[in-house]
Amino acid sequence: MKSRAIVQTGPKQLELRELPVPEIDADSALLRVEACGICGSDAEQYDGILPVPYPVIPGHEPLGVIAAIGDRAARRWGVDLGDRVAVEVMLPCGHCLECRGGRYQICRGGDGGLSGYAYIPLTREPGLWGAYADYMYLDPRSIVHKVRADLPAQTAVLFNPLGAGFRWAVELPRTGPGDTVLILGPGQRGLASVVAARAAGADSIIVTGLSRDADKLRLAVELGADHVIDVEQENARRRVKELTGGRGADVVVEVSSYATEPVAEALHYAAPGGRVVLAGVKGFKQVPDFVSDLIVVKEITVIGAFGVTSRAYRSAIRLIESGKVPVERMHTHDFALEDAELAIQTLKGTAPGEASIHSCLIP
Ligand SMILES: [Zn+2]
Ligand SMILES: [Zn+2]
Repeated sequence: MKSRAIVQTGPKQLELRELPVPEIDADSALLRVEACGICGSDAEQYDGILPVPYPVIPGHEPLGVIAAIGDRAARRWGVDLGDRVAVEVMLPCGHCLECRGGRYQICRGGDGGLSGYAYIPLTREPGLWGAYADYMYLDPRSIVHKVRADLPAQTAVLFNPLGAGFRWAVELPRTGPGDTVLILGPGQRGLASVVAARAAGADSIIVTGLSRDADKLRLAVELGADHVIDVEQENARRRVKELTGGRGADVVVEVSSYATEPVAEALHYAAPGGRVVLAGVKGFKQVPDFVSDLIVVKEITVIGAFGVTSRAYRSAIRLIESGKVPVERMHTHDFALEDAELAIQTLKGTAPGEASIHSCLIP
């Protein structure tokens, strides 16, 4: 049996190939990919900003059906042939200090670095390590979650951004009733943060964006935001003060991509004793106008957010399955496997037509 797969051979170089589907043993499985979410980091990987070993199959947000599974894997994971599953990106080693301490999402034990789908080269057996493909190999270290089979794949695959929303906007800053949450950036992660903060019972949710984000800001309101701020049209610091009775926000979630200004601004928006979560990567740039004294005098807690936990993924899947929130409104584009490049350019806004919010490949 063969599987089509998109192979990245270098920066901005993708090619469609046919690869053999591996035999699986007692501890592994084979996933028939139904959908793979397109992540902001896929664009960085495509551009060569995010270093990956070439040649590699991109795609780390897989949803699919178990097409073959070994006995021990089925027992260990609690899934069987034909089950629909969401697959976590990380392949934690299970033995390093981080894994043993319960922070497997920052495990560096696998191969001396991060180990996860889409970051293992094609040359490593059995090859199908990414979800831009018809089939993906499921390593014994995989973490999978069952998902109801009757939901559209495009909706079910939202477990990824929504899982990040639950971890970054709720779990890490311990958001709950009484909290005002300010979300900087209305992309898929920002909108997911709105949904998660709402589900956690936050009192008030505010989202900032640019003028060109007008549609996304409207969607933020549909998904549960109380107020939105166009930072190009309004004085955002003053507006946040007004909306929070002069205090500032209890929780600030920074999920904008590339821009460093929101990182410096986050400290101005935060209330005394507030929590600031930094989750948007900036290509390792320095942040100008970063006033650390604001952290000191307001006793702000700054939290770095990188991965997602199983608990947050489960919250996301339950919320999607509940049908209570119109999360499918976040999904804007589907692409065929061979259009992976167009999918990435549409996410970046460099392709003609509307930029995507959430999109996925449907192989
Ligand atoms: Zn991702
Ligand atoms: Zn580990």
